Amino acid sequence: MSTEEKINLLDLDRQAMEAFFEGIGAKAFHGRNVLKWIHKHGVTDFDAMTDLSKRLRAQLKEIAEVRLPKVVLDQPARDGTHKWVLELDRHNRIESVHIPDGDRATLCVSSQVGCALDCSFCSTARQGFNRNLTSGEIIAQVWIAVHRFGKPLTNVVLMGMGEPLANFDAVVPAMAVMQDDLTYMLSKYRVTISTSGIVPAIYRLREASDVSLAVSLHAPTNELRDQLVPINRKYPLEALIPACREYVRNDKRRKVTWEYVMLDGVNDGIQHAKALIRLLEGTPSKMNLIPFNPFPGAPYRTSPPERIEAFRQRLMKAGIISITRKTRGDEIDAACGQLVGQVKDRSRRALKLQRHLARSLG
Ligand code: SAH
Repeated sequence: MSTEEKINLLDLDRQAMEAFFEGIGAKAFHGRNVLKWIHKHGVTDFDAMTDLSKRLRAQLKEIAEVRLPKVVLDQPARDGTHKWVLELDRHNRIESVHIPDGDRATLCVSSQVGCALDCSFCSTARQGFNRNLTSGEIIAQVWIAVHRFGKPLTNVVLMGMGEPLANFDAVVPAMAVMQDDLTYMLSKYRVTISTSGIVPAIYRLREASDVSLAVSLHAPTNELRDQLVPINRKYPLEALIPACREYVRNDKRRKVTWEYVMLDGVNDGIQHAKALIRLLEGTPSKMNLIPFNPFPGAPYRTSPPERIEAFRQRLMKAGIISITRKTRGDEIDAACGQLVGQVKDRSRRALKLQRHLARSLG
């Protein structure tokens, strides 16, 4: 069996692993053991999985494997941030970033090679879009951080390259593995998915998962958001806000985390803060203000720190907990919106949004 035909066990969450083992005539608990070997102990060689019979190990070697992407660049920054470039195949590279901060350590994970959404302030968008990551390629980023580099993890954010909710079917099982007691044991408050606002997928997510929700808002009006986050033309604020409110409705501890990139003279005025306060009234909210991270050819500048602080104070006064996100890892292009990997863009830019969304949203 060639390696492409073998099943990659990294693609399987607990449920799928149990089903796979039952399907080959073994028991569900063997599947749980293997999940634990791979993700808790970092073991990828079946022969080292000593609680499986020799026969089962031999059978696994025939039909399955643990296929990890290759680390092609390992780049630390002075502030402790660490970026890895992973090669998925000949044409595609993605990036993950490890961000230690006091007693927290967050891994920022990619979900697609490139992105089809074309937000005007994001350099991933410039790369175009090639393909979705598999579940295995998503969870492999966590595996590599923990088992290959020995990095502790308290949080995972799906805030790397790509729009995670446009790759729903791969992202959901990968997040289930992150949360599993047999593996990384991250609570629902410590796995966060960030979306540009694909409304039907936010409703679906509520049924399929309980991770925390972050939404890239960036503007308080449709007029402005249409320009910055073009998916807003399809799912405007009057659809987005209720979907987010619904997501957190049944859990009193829950808030929607809003991401708001601070663009000088574009969305950073007091009038924008006021409109934002009106927009979010009644939605349990936490605001993350992100100073714009520049990249070559970007049509924006970062707001001056005093303006960001005035904006933050205005929101705080209205009772919205707001923090200004520290810029981390920008010296190695690892900050928000700077992840580019290597994307063989297969979609002509003008067509890519339509086509991709039609495909992934049905
Ligand atoms: N596609 C998802 C996941 C990306 S998360 C989403 O849109 O939410 C990365 C976060 O960084 C998003 O909030 C994104 O809007 C923000 N971002 C993108 N480019 C940026 C830049 N140049 N400077 C600061 N933040 C940026």
